[in-house]
Amino acid sequence: MNAPAHVGLLVVGGGIGGMAAALAAARAGRPVHLLERAAQFTEIGAGLQVGPNAVRVLADLGLYPRVRDVAVFPEGGVFMDALTGEHLTTLDVGPAFRDRYGAPYLVMHRSDLLEILLEACRSENRITLENGREVTHVAHLPDGAVQVDCADGSRFRAQAVIGADGLNSRVRGLVSADEPVCSGYAAYRGIMPMGDLDAHIGEASVVIWIGPGMHLVQYPIRRGELYNTVAVFRSDAYARGEADWGGPVELDERFADACPEVRRGIQHVDRSRYWKTYDRDPLSTWTSGRVTLLGDAAHPMLQYLGQGACQALEDAAALGKRFAEYGDDYDKVLADYERQRLHKASRAQTAARTWGEIWHTDGIGRLLRNYIFTSRAHDDYTHTDWLYLPEPAQPKVGV
Ligand SMILES: Cc1cc2nc3c(=O)[nH]c(=O)nc-3n(C[C@H](O)[C@H](O)[C@H](O)COP(=O)(O)OP(=O)(O)OC[C@H]3O[C@@H](n4cnc5c(N)ncnc54)[C@H](O)[C@@H]3O)c2cc1C
Repeated sequence: MNAPAHVGLLVVGGGIGGMAAALAAARAGRPVHLLERAAQFTEIGAGLQVGPNAVRVLADLGLYPRVRDVAVFPEGGVFMDALTGEHLTTLDVGPAFRDRYGAPYLVMHRSDLLEILLEACRSENRITLENGREVTHVAHLPDGAVQVDCADGSRFRAQAVIGADGLNSRVRGLVSADEPVCSGYAAYRGIMPMGDLDAHIGEASVVIWIGPGMHLVQYPIRRGELYNTVAVFRSDAYARGEADWGGPVELDERFADACPEVRRGIQHVDRSRYWKTYDRDPLSTWTSGRVTLLGDAAHPMLQYLGQGACQALEDAAALGKRFAEYGDDYDKVLADYERQRLHKASRAQTAARTWGEIWHTDGIGRLLRNYIFTSRAHDDYTHTDWLYLPEPAQPKVGV
């Protein structure tokens, strides 16, 4: 093992959460060292929905002009019954929504967002980015500092550590012995050129087709040049306890009874790769000494609210504000960061599970859900206020 390199704030993980945290802390005056295990900073080829709560964060970081250039601004979130093709409801995200939440709803390519964050981090001289550094061990030192060891033998002595190392976070082991919870659902993704798309309901919207044990999400990304599709379904093979589950045969079986638009839609996903989806139960604390968690490492959630990355961005903003307030008083920064973020992020974790149940319900539950959805006004924001409303003093973000 090499002699330790002394650093101030050390961030483990260079995904959307880690990058945004590094940027927010550096903008608040902290030198930041970020370690990423992969040889390059990359995101998977897929779309990302970004709610106004996260758009405000990107604006605060000065990134909104770059984001606006590559994003798409949908008119609404359109919910359809995946079996009958019936329109159930629309969440209007037009002017009234923007006005209420002080920022727009947008959709974009994940790698566009990571690229924008990366470029901003690289132009910030307080940030050091290192690839190919897989953190294998994190330990408290007697004086309160933190020792971080990497697989390649490098060692760091940090004043504080942010674990932004995702669902299977190594850093989380310092805080909790819990394991990821498997949902039994598999997700397939696909991106195609917009020109290859048949005339379609979804070109100006995020369209969500919901049905028993399955759903399909479609929306345009990258200035409307590409079209993103995500198909998700509950696996019977998983329920039977089989190790090999979620494959394309099951995908086709689960969507066999869907309406023609949905069956056409699932032809757009890449069948060679799929994700078994996991979350975790909320924790009562994310912090141990001068180590805390952020993003999926802290609060991995199912994707049904489109909020995992958005909550990570909210974490980053909160952290930056605490650094601006408390400087290098890391104990105060971490405690206050957690105090501000834990409740909302935990609520998002549990609300995402409930939302998934509502989408995937069958029988009488489905009939009731459809009745409630078709009865709601498109500009009824009762159920989104807790997630999207800004703090009173936050400025508005224009499109
Ligand atoms: C199907 C699907 C759809 C989704 N849609 C949305 C959406 O529309 N909107 C939204 O907001 N969210 C969405 N999410 C959630 C979102 O993808 C995640 O919440 C978000 O990417 C988490 O970012 P993160 O930076 O916390 O973690 P990650 O993206 O997992 O990044 C962690 C990083 O840490 C690195 N790392 C891991 N271990 C180590 C280690 N030991 N040492 C060094 N580096 C390490 C990894 O290589 C990685 O780069 C979706 C998720 C899924 C599965």
